[in-house]
Amino acid sequence: MIKLEKVKKKNLGFFRYKKINNNILLTNEVGNFCFLSLDDFKKFIYGQLDSKSKIYQVLKNGNFIKNKINEKVLINDYRRKNSFLAQGPSLHIIVLTKRCDHVCTYCQASAKINCDKKYDMDARIAKKTVDMIFQTTNRSISIEFQGGEPLLNWEILKFITDYSIEKNKHNDKDIRIHLMSNFGVMDQEKLNFLAKRRVGLSTSLDAPEQVHNKNRIFPGAKNSYQNAVKWIKKANKIYKKEADDCMPGVVNTITRDSFPFYREMVDENLSLDFEGVYIRPLSPFGTAQKTWKEIGYTPEEYLDYYKNVLDYIIKINLEKKIEFYERGTFFILLKILSKIDPNDLDMRSPCGAGIGQLLYNYDGKVYTCDEGRMIKDDTFMIGNVDKSSYEEMVGSDIVKSMCVASCLDGLQCDRCVYKPYCGVCPVYNYAQHGTLFPQLSCNNRCKINMGIFDYLFKKLEDEEVRKVFESWVKKY
Ligand code: SF4
Ligand code: SF4
Repeated sequence: MIKLEKVKKKNLGFFRYKKINNNILLTNEVGNFCFLSLDDFKKFIYGQLDSKSKIYQVLKNGNFIKNKINEKVLINDYRRKNSFLAQGPSLHIIVLTKRCDHVCTYCQASAKINCDKKYDMDARIAKKTVDMIFQTTNRSISIEFQGGEPLLNWEILKFITDYSIEKNKHNDKDIRIHLMSNFGVMDQEKLNFLAKRRVGLSTSLDAPEQVHNKNRIFPGAKNSYQNAVKWIKKANKIYKKEADDCMPGVVNTITRDSFPFYREMVDENLSLDFEGVYIRPLSPFGTAQKTWKEIGYTPEEYLDYYKNVLDYIIKINLEKKIEFYERGTFFILLKILSKIDPNDLDMRSPCGAGIGQLLYNYDGKVYTCDEGRMIKDDTFMIGNVDKSSYEEMVGSDIVKSMCVASCLDGLQCDRCVYKPYCGVCPVYNYAQHGTLFPQLSCNNRCKINMGIFDYLFKKLEDEEVRKVFESWVKKY
């Protein structure tokens, strides 16, 4: 029991805290953290901690002690943590088509199967889109092709790739191009073109095979899983030769059918030479809204699955002496252990909507972000490459509202010990609750994030596991 009248506020820097296992976790505004036993925590807040003790030095170095704060370090850390605010959008997602050759049970983009080409981006919109992208104030440009299935609009994909590379000869941006594809219509010629231009590849693999094929239906009796694996292997081979710094990556979307197969999922991704898995919970957008009863789950069920996956991955790291990670966990650990910003636009404050990313739809409409285009009423549309200027779009009231709604300082999150590493999503809140602001008591995204942070900090108390986590971070 803490006696409030005894608390020596003049000794205390600003921090948030929570009980984890039998210890107290402290975090501060710049993301420093430390664990204190309950006894030391009491001594600390009553001003009775021995200034020669090891834990006092840890607190001092982390800038938790008010009259020992190193202002220069604290200011630099704060500046670095928030430097993205002065940079402008770096991620530019282009929806090349709404058409798709798959009918996935959880499709967030509500893609259209075998429809006509009126849902494809044309060359005029494509050129205007690239010209708009190059107006960003950010030194880095990451162009990501999405759909539908982007390869179905191959000629425009080729045009945008070559036009962007050419245009950059006069702009000197740090440019990366990335394709998210199901590989349904991949062929050798396309793969050669992509590897030669160092276009990064990601694909979905909901291993094992029976789960993937149940989730990712490829009409015409084609086996989506075997097709994806075939092209992953071919891509690995050619990228190793031509572009080994942008090896193919994977996304593993989790439905309730995935739950019993966490070992198989990890093993299959490992055998395909991926650097790790990237498990993603379902989002309540598009088709997943309609199929939720069959494929959805509670946050608690997802967290059980997450813990199984993470424990199994840690075991593999320890037994096989390899570095194989879960990508979302890796991003969080980068923030916790190294204070490097992994550019995870959904987990920062304010989030990336309009200030870190923009989405360019096939028809020229521009949205705050990928999820923003998934809401049918165009609430998150900020302009059109045909009619709007770059300044009008990024300075729009919608972008300002997104910043306010996702800035954790003004929300209940301001009291949460995980605030330095977390983020909220106004589009998710709008889809779930009809408001941009999070209703945290019933917000499943918060429950999942909170559960993941709780688990990671519990794991960080284990020296052996902490070394595994540190080895992932060191590789970055
Ligand atoms: S969203 Fe939840 S876990 Fe994240 S900072 Fe807010 S309260 Fe904490
Ligand atoms: S609104 Fe949501 S999806 Fe869009 S950038 Fe923010 S966190 Fe990401």
